[in-house]
Amino acid sequence: MQIINTPKSMQKIAESLRGKRKTIGLVPTMGALHEGHLSLIKRSAMENDITVVSIFVNPTQFGPNEDFARYPRAFKKDRLLAQKAGADFIFHPTASAMYPDNFQTFVIPDKIADKLEGAARPGHFKGVATICLKLFNIIKPHRAYFGQKDAQQLAVIRQMARDFNLDLKIVGCPIVRTRTGVALSSRHVYLSESELRKATVIHKALLAARKEINAGQRSISKLRKLMAEIIGSESGLYIEYISFNRWDNLEELRTLSGNTLISLVVRIGKVRLLDNTLIRIR
Ligand code: AMP
Repeated sequence: MQIINTPKSMQKIAESLRGKRKTIGLVPTMGALHEGHLSLIKRSAMENDITVVSIFVNPTQFGPNEDFARYPRAFKKDRLLAQKAGADFIFHPTASAMYPDNFQTFVIPDKIADKLEGAARPGHFKGVATICLKLFNIIKPHRAYFGQKDAQQLAVIRQMARDFNLDLKIVGCPIVRTRTGVALSSRHVYLSESELRKATVIHKALLAARKEINAGQRSISKLRKLMAEIIGSESGLYIEYISFNRWDNLEELRTLSGNTLISLVVRIGKVRLLDNTLIRIR
């Protein structure tokens, strides 16, 4: 496995691989790798000749009062984990290599990015879309792998790929959870053991909503109330939102039907925990 630090050298390698008709899979990450990231790397390694993992804590997707400076960084450990999972290259650039002083062009996703996480974190998806487009141009992947865990991110990137006629496939991958059901996140390092234990109610709430829907419940307000009750059974958890959206364009649903994304953010202290589930409703 090779570590590449500059966009130019990565581009050269990608060009040469494509010349040899190798397929390239890209797994974009911010590092502090866990089993969720590793599942994406393994999937890419299965489906492509070459897998590139990018590790870059992207400053432009963090708001001014967010955790950019203290976001966990663990490159040495990440390197071993990525290699073991099947990565052939790690692309690990500096911020100044990705955003030189005169940088001034951004991708601004439209309506799909102004709700949910986009409403809670203004400018977040501008940073995400911009870095992903840059990574696509640098690494030239045939396929790029994203976790369903960040469902809106996946939807925004799929939309960008369609809108900009990007010549690659965006592959969505299932959420990886702890044994107790908590969706894995690099931000778990901020939580105590007891906070992580409390967080299990988030997945329980999603499972309960699924069960009710399968039993015929179609009232969004009743489902929301049920989920809030389950989460409220633990102290110190604050619900930021529980939302029901169409899966393709993320429009908020008034009545339940079709492919539906149930997503929520629960805060424990300053840590925002995201989770979601997709359900087809007839
Ligand atoms: P991040 O490093 O948090 O930017 O995440 C990099 C990629 O890993 C994104 O596509 C995430 O959606 C994905 N990811 C993060 N956590 C999980 C998880 N628990 N299960 C599956 N994919 C995940």
